[in-house]
Amino acid sequence: MGRIIAIANQKGGVGKTTTAINLSSSLASMGKKVLSLDMDPQGNMTSGLGVDKDEAEKTVYDLIIGNAGVEECICRDALENIDVLPSNIDLSAAEIELIGVDNKEYILKNEIDKVKDNYDFIIIDCPPALSMLTINAMTTADSVIVPIQCEYYALEGLSQLIHTIELVKERLNPHLEIEGVVFTMYDARTNLSLQVVENVKDNLNQNIYKTIIPRNIRLAEAPSYGMPINLYDPKSTGAESYMLLAEEVINKGEE
Ligand code: ADP
Ligand code: MG
Repeated sequence: MGRIIAIANQKGGVGKTTTAINLSSSLASMGKKVLSLDMDPQGNMTSGLGVDKDEAEKTVYDLIIGNAGVEECICRDALENIDVLPSNIDLSAAEIELIGVDNKEYILKNEIDKVKDNYDFIIIDCPPALSMLTINAMTTADSVIVPIQCEYYALEGLSQLIHTIELVKERLNPHLEIEGVVFTMYDARTNLSLQVVENVKDNLNQNIYKTIIPRNIRLAEAPSYGMPINLYDPKSTGAESYMLLAEEVINKGEE
């Protein structure tokens, strides 16, 4: 049965999409069958996995407003072992269209339940907001991975995020867990990155992945080629670190 992991943090630019893309592709390269589900209207996970977001016939938007079933929306074999549920800017209208709809928190879950047995992992990229789209992702997920950027305001907003996850667990999805926190964009040349890691470890009572994702320009370049890092530059430090993260995620599931 597929493990469903949402990558969430309402802050923008912390490495959610980069993590969602490269965790998906690292898991896939280890032989896991992955569905990459893009819940962000920016569609950067979609394009980062080589799917043309504006050519996709049916997207998460169609799924959310009840215009299409999940099978119709999946873009199969986008990459080896990876199917993509694409999104694009259309999805930004979904929140409005859902006003007054009953049980709107469960729309995604009800659809994903139909296909989750086809995958080892379903990785959901969340938008940078605690919106109805993020709530749908958390209601669908078994767990949440929180990327934290190694910069000064790293802890800002985290208590709000954790509170939201607790509310979803209490009211919508009793199975939801915080899978762990992953540090991103670590810069070994500065003391700041190290201080942030130490500070978060001291102040946050959560599982923290041993793997720390370094700041690596290759990770920033890869999306413009529509490629995950393990295809764009498999020898880069970025590629190696996402492989290690994927191993940790697999091992944690087998505990
Ligand atoms: P989010 O989805 O949280 O908004 P992104 O994954 O889009 O964040 O990352 C924000 C920006 O930082 C992007 O331009 C991305 O390419 C870049 N980036 C993310 N992670 C790294 C990294 N480890 N090293 C270098 N650049 C990164
Ligand atoms: Mg993003």
